[in-house]
Amino acid sequence: MVRLRFAPSPTGSLHLGGLRTALYNYLFARKNGGEWILRIEDTDSARAVPGAVDNIRSALAWAGLEYDFGPGKHGPHGPYFQSERLDLYHMYSDKLLESGRAYRCFCSADKLQETRERLARLGSNATYDKTCLNLTEEEVARRVRAGEKSVVRLNDSNLPRRTTPPDLVFGSLKDAHASLPTDPVLLKSDMFPTYHLASVVDDHEMGITHVCRGEEWLLSLPLHLDLYASLGLQPPQFAHLPLLLNPDGTKMSKRKGDVQVFDYKRRGWDPQAVLNWLALAGWGHTHAESGDVVAKQAPDSTAVMTLAELVREFDLEALTHRRTVLDPMKLEYLNKHHLMRTMSSDDGLTELAERVHDIVKAAFPLSPHTTVPEIKRVIQALQGRMTNLQDIPTLAPYFFVDPDLTSPEAQSMSKLFTAKDYAKIVPAIIARLEAPGLQWELASLTAILHDQVKKLGVKQKALMNVVRRQLTGMKTGPGIAEIMLLLGKDRTLERMRVQSS
Ligand code: GLU
Repeated sequence: MVRLRFAPSPTGSLHLGGLRTALYNYLFARKNGGEWILRIEDTDSARAVPGAVDNIRSALAWAGLEYDFGPGKHGPHGPYFQSERLDLYHMYSDKLLESGRAYRCFCSADKLQETRERLARLGSNATYDKTCLNLTEEEVARRVRAGEKSVVRLNDSNLPRRTTPPDLVFGSLKDAHASLPTDPVLLKSDMFPTYHLASVVDDHEMGITHVCRGEEWLLSLPLHLDLYASLGLQPPQFAHLPLLLNPDGTKMSKRKGDVQVFDYKRRGWDPQAVLNWLALAGWGHTHAESGDVVAKQAPDSTAVMTLAELVREFDLEALTHRRTVLDPMKLEYLNKHHLMRTMSSDDGLTELAERVHDIVKAAFPLSPHTTVPEIKRVIQALQGRMTNLQDIPTLAPYFFVDPDLTSPEAQSMSKLFTAKDYAKIVPAIIARLEAPGLQWELASLTAILHDQVKKLGVKQKALMNVVRRQLTGMKTGPGIAEIMLLLGKDRTLERMRVQSS
C-alpha cells in the first residue's frame, strides 16, 4: 500500500505552491488506494507563526483535500507534530553516535565562522574541518557531563555505499554532494532536530512510500539518502515538484499578487477550479530528457476536471520537471466551466445559490429579492456569462435593485436608438404587457417583443436596447424576455413606466 505525507512547516499561511504539493500527494494516495498523512514540521520554533497550523488545516478543508491521519485525526503513526516526537529523533541520533556515523561537535559559532573563512581562503569548499571528530570518547563524555553545549553532526567520511534512485519527476539525478555542507548538523544544541534528521526519521517511522515535495528539497536529497544508508534503512521513492511561476516567468511570491490559498477563497474562486488549475500546471508532459521515459497520457491543459476525475487520471510520472507558469486566465476559464457543471444539477445549483446569498446580501442589504429560489434563477440566467460567483452583484445588479438610469452606462445607451423610437416602443410594450390574460412565460414574452418589432416598424436592435435600458440600465446581459421573466410582471411594468429618455 502506498502512504504519502504533506509536511508543511507552520511558518505562514498555506500558499498555492503548498496546496499543489498537497494535491499531488492526495491524488497519488487516492489513486492507489493508499493513505495520506498531514505532518506538521514545527521543530524550528523561531520561524513558527501563530495560527499557521489552523490556516493550513482550514485551507485543505476548503479545497476538499481530506487527510486520513494528522492533527485532529489520530492514527497509528502519530503524534503528527514533530515537536511531539523529539524522543524519536534522539533515539535515532544516539544510534548514529553509537555506530560512529555521527559525532558530537562542541565548536562555538565564532569558531565555526573562523573555520569557514580559513577553509574558503585555502580554496576549499568544505564548510567545517571536522575538529570534533577527533575528540576521544572520554573527552566527549567529560564535556557532556560538564554541561557544555554541543550539536550532533553526520560523519560524511566513508559513508556507506548507496545508490541514487531516479526521481519520479526529474528522472536520474547526479549525486551532487558538492552543494552540501560538510558533516551537516542533525541535532541542534537545543536538542531539536534539523529538518533533515526529522524528515528522514518520520518518513521511515510513518512508513512513507513516496515523498512528493517541492523542488527546493532536491539539493538535500543526497544528504537524506546518506542518512537512510547510515541508519541502514531503505529510502522511499521521491518525486520533486517543479516551482510554479507567475505569467511573467518570475517566482511566485507574496509581493507579486495573490499567492495564499485564502486569497482565492476570499475572491470567490471555486475550490474545484483552483485544484483543477493547480493540477494541470505541470501535468501534461513527459519528464526526463534522459529519453528513457515513455510518454504518459496526460489531460489537455484546459481539461475541466473534478477532484474525483483528477484522482482517476493522475500519474506522478506524467509530471513535467520544467517550471510551470500559473496562468490566471486559465483559472477564469476553469472556474466558469466548473460553475456550469455544478449548476447542471438542482443540488449543485442550490449549493451555489447558498454561497451567492451572502454575497448579494452584503452587496444589496435592503433588497427583498435575495431569497435562495430567486438567486437560483439568477444564476441560471447568467450561466456562461460569469466567471466567478462574486461577479454577480456587478454583472447583474438589476435583479436585486432598480437600475440607475442616470449612470454613464445607461446614459450612453441612448445612442443605441432614437428619441422617436423610444417614444413609440415604451408605450406599446407597456400596453402589451398589461393586456389581461397574458401568460408571464418566456415564449409569450419573446413573441410580444418580436411582434412589436414588426408592428412598430422599428429595428429589432433598437427595440431590444430600449427595453434593456429600461429594465437593467446595462448594455449586456441575458435575453430580454428572460430578464422580464425573472423580474416578474410588477417589477417589469414599474421599470418600463419610468421616464428615462
Ligand atoms: N517542511 C518542509 C516545508 O515546509 C517540507 C519538506 C518535505 O516535504 O520534506 O517545505
